[in-house]
Amino acid sequence: MIRTEKILHLKNNRGRRLRVVREHYLREEVPCYSSVCQAGCPNGGKVLPGDLTHYVVPDVGVGVDYLEILEFQEMQGIIFTQTVCQAVQHSKGRRQYNRLRNLLKDPRHDCVLFSNEFQEYSYCPREKGESQEEWQTRCVYSAAVWYHNHLAGLMDIVMITQDQDTVTEYSSLNSGVYVVSVQDYLKNFWPDLQGAHELYASISLALQVKESEGKEEEYRDHLPAEVLDAGIKSGRYIQGTLNVSKHRAQTEAFVMLEGFSNKSSDIGWCVLVHGDKARNRAVHGDIVVVELLPKSEWKGKVTALTEGQGEEKSGEDERKPMATGRVVGVQQRNWRDYVVTVPPREGPQAQSRNFQRILTVPWDHRIPKIRISTQQADTLQDHRVVVRIDSWETSSLYPNGHTVRVLGRAGELDTEVQTIVVENSISVPPFSDAQLREMPLNSAENPWTVDPAQVEARLDIRQSHLVFSIDPKGCEDVDDTLSVRCLADGKLFELGVHIADVTHFVKEGSLTDLEARSRATTYYLADRRYDMLPAVLSSDLCSLLGGVDRYAMSVIWELDAHTLAVNKVWYGRTIIRSSYQLHYELAQALLNGEQVPVPELAQVSPEQKDSRLAELTQALETLTFIARHLRAQRDRGGALELEGVEVRAKLDEQKNITALVPRQPLEVHETVAECMIYANHWVARKIQETFPHQALLRRHPPPRQEFFSQLVESAKARGFNIDTTTNKTLADSLERAVDPEDSLVNRLLRMMTTQAMSEALYFSTGALTVPEFYHYGLALDCYTHFTSPIRRYADMVVHRLLTAAIAEEKALSKMLASNKEVEQMSQHINKKNRAAKRAQKLSTELFQCLFFKDRDPQSDPHCMADGIIYSIRDDGVLVFVPEYGIKAPVYLKNREGQVVMVQQDGSCERTSGTIRRHRDHISTTSACGTSTFRLFDHITVRISVSSSHCHADRIHLEIISNKPYQSSQPAQPHTEARCQLVREVVRLAEEAHQQAQQKEARRSKFSREEREFCQSKTPNLYSLLEEVRELALMDLEMVGQVCATTA
Ligand SMILES: [Zn+2]
Repeated sequence: MIRTEKILHLKNNRGRRLRVVREHYLREEVPCYSSVCQAGCPNGGKVLPGDLTHYVVPDVGVGVDYLEILEFQEMQGIIFTQTVCQAVQHSKGRRQYNRLRNLLKDPRHDCVLFSNEFQEYSYCPREKGESQEEWQTRCVYSAAVWYHNHLAGLMDIVMITQDQDTVTEYSSLNSGVYVVSVQDYLKNFWPDLQGAHELYASISLALQVKESEGKEEEYRDHLPAEVLDAGIKSGRYIQGTLNVSKHRAQTEAFVMLEGFSNKSSDIGWCVLVHGDKARNRAVHGDIVVVELLPKSEWKGKVTALTEGQGEEKSGEDERKPMATGRVVGVQQRNWRDYVVTVPPREGPQAQSRNFQRILTVPWDHRIPKIRISTQQADTLQDHRVVVRIDSWETSSLYPNGHTVRVLGRAGELDTEVQTIVVENSISVPPFSDAQLREMPLNSAENPWTVDPAQVEARLDIRQSHLVFSIDPKGCEDVDDTLSVRCLADGKLFELGVHIADVTHFVKEGSLTDLEARSRATTYYLADRRYDMLPAVLSSDLCSLLGGVDRYAMSVIWELDAHTLAVNKVWYGRTIIRSSYQLHYELAQALLNGEQVPVPELAQVSPEQKDSRLAELTQALETLTFIARHLRAQRDRGGALELEGVEVRAKLDEQKNITALVPRQPLEVHETVAECMIYANHWVARKIQETFPHQALLRRHPPPRQEFFSQLVESAKARGFNIDTTTNKTLADSLERAVDPEDSLVNRLLRMMTTQAMSEALYFSTGALTVPEFYHYGLALDCYTHFTSPIRRYADMVVHRLLTAAIAEEKALSKMLASNKEVEQMSQHINKKNRAAKRAQKLSTELFQCLFFKDRDPQSDPHCMADGIIYSIRDDGVLVFVPEYGIKAPVYLKNREGQVVMVQQDGSCERTSGTIRRHRDHISTTSACGTSTFRLFDHITVRISVSSSHCHADRIHLEIISNKPYQSSQPAQPHTEARCQLVREVVRLAEEAHQQAQQKEARRSKFSREEREFCQSKTPNLYSLLEEVRELALMDLEMVGQVCATTA
């Protein structure tokens, strides 16, 4: 090892330059991470493949400014030098540096880090008079040459740079080491990687115009980091996350304080930041530091009904001045990719050289306009584009950014769906070849078979147990099956839950595992889904289909037949063969004693058929018996039923329920759900006992009482008393709050309850105390997710924990993730679940809007519907339209001061007057008298769409009459109407798309990209999603059992 000195020139927080001398040790053996290494380097971990034409070495300028291009997964064989990494860290800050580190860590990206400055033969000391930039370039080039020599010339090396002088100086020094510009590199090596070319052009433009900002200061400078830190410590400043108001994005933003409970009561839990000067270039989501203004300048927030408002938690003080402050610094930028719309051009714009700078409008109201530079201003008009913000200088009113890719023309179905996906930071590229190569083979020529070694290692219950599944009709991915039998002359029951053994096929840390982890869940949108796992697993080898051998993870209980107390519980890997793939209606029919054909018994002889049918029916009956008991047990503990019970009864009268609509009043739904809850609960117990500090569980915190105020008040309006003291009293009082005249009342009360609930969350057992593990909704002391590993990553983590827990007993313990890692994982999954839910909700709304968009609200009968008032606001009411599942405001007073007055016949007209809000009703008064609108009143509404070019369209409701809507046509079950809605919208969109494609083909090249991210299309999921959405609490736990498996 050779000791030398290295002189660094660093910038400190204030921008001052420092000269630092560090001791520096050089070694001979610095790993090259290449699989064509000829020198036997200790290459662990990620290694560059040898079957490439070249390796590419970016110089400092490329690493700093063009890193995004190297993030394309198609780019292979990238070597980042230590020199480049350090330069990125010093000149671009933590965000960009983390980006680079994540890239290096991610095995899906083919790139490595070479510690060139520790390598004896690639290190070059800085020469006298040599500038930092010159030296860095020499270091990177020297590393490139080292690679070429080290790999004995087996691999060409291409150094890429943006500096023409570097190309001139170095390109002809060594054969086999090429020095080219990024543009030439892309042109010659990646001519078809269109996305990279476009990104390159947009970054280059953004860099060119960077200097040409105005001189005028629009904003104050942010304070230096050390001043902010000191101010926070002394209590002068407050730190928190900036949350811009959705409805008043221009003026209102709130800083949510971290650990608000210990702040002074004056401030409460958030600080208002009023106006864009006070916001001082902070963007929604940034972690900011605020300084409080003097109390005399404090402001109140507005609570009047604003368009787009539908569901917000109530119970806060209104219009009272609240703590108000201004942003003095930003601790962390949390910028993501934003979808913007390039507005149509109005007149000539500031055009210089051959590009234009345009202000684009983000789809998310909370994000400020972003200025981009483009050469395609004309082509991009009316298109939705993904952009990234680069900077926001004090001299600029708006942040500057660059375009990343084009999604398509605004208003087209695919563009709008992709917008929702990007806006929720959901990344679902098609599975890569490398990921698919990890999958087991299963084709007609090479069918997958059971491995004899696995038969040895697993409990084989193929012969001994009657295993069956119950799912919605047409279900492809069956991740759970059941078995039940009587033992010891009927003194004991044995209940088994057998779950797809996904982690057998997906090894921890494999590319497929990383992809699944990054997705965290399967995403269900109205007309399509994005799977968490490749189809060969999700709908084939992991799907517990009937009549085939499958690996499973099982929980098997031995229960006392009378008390149902658990005698014994066994966890482990099994091999099963499901005998029956039942659907809910069939299972229920068998339970009801109906004569129904069972497909699996079609070919069986009559005498055999009877006995086998009896066996199956007996099993279903036993299962129902056990589930009823388990359910009663949880009910006594206070489990909440948040479904609309009455809706089921209503649906019961209908004959034409489509197969994909699972919510029928079938007890068997509950039976299956109950068994899954039981399995989840027992697995939670097992992993928590074995790993008290690092098990992944799911908790549901009790709701904050103040969120119940709307529910309690609303119920009172109808004479019901809702007791929210405990989950038990809440469940009981909800059960009683039934209006015999109007089934929707109970459904709405349950919806309000759901809204008031806290969110159920994953966590690591080491991060909380045992009482905090409680699951409020299910009334269980501990709970986790085990039963759906095909579509939830949490379940895969739990499967691995359970495997480790079993191995532990056999003294075969292995290295496990730490508490901190499990907690980080939990937070990641929680975040992705939220994104999934939001995307689902947005796509539902998108379809509602697309359905109504081209209809004439004045003449189309679809546009009239029955609505029910579920909340009272200052200048209007919130209305639920059950037929379409729409929730939207109805304004009773417009901007011109006109109020809605009811005429003799119930019809509504607008005249000038006043409006007054009461607890459970709202009144309008004009010269002709007073009209009153009460909670739970049925009214007739007209549905139309408020179109918005740059944002999402919104449903607009207008009150037509204060009487319930009398349709001229027979009423349809609302779920069916919604299925039709999706079918119709998809059909129209496909027609429109074909037309547009023909047009686009003549005009532009974007259409190729537009459909790129679509993976699978399944029709009719819409109604399922509605169910999932409405049961916000149960959603991903039990409804999942009912519906998501169909998808
Ligand atoms: Zn080597």
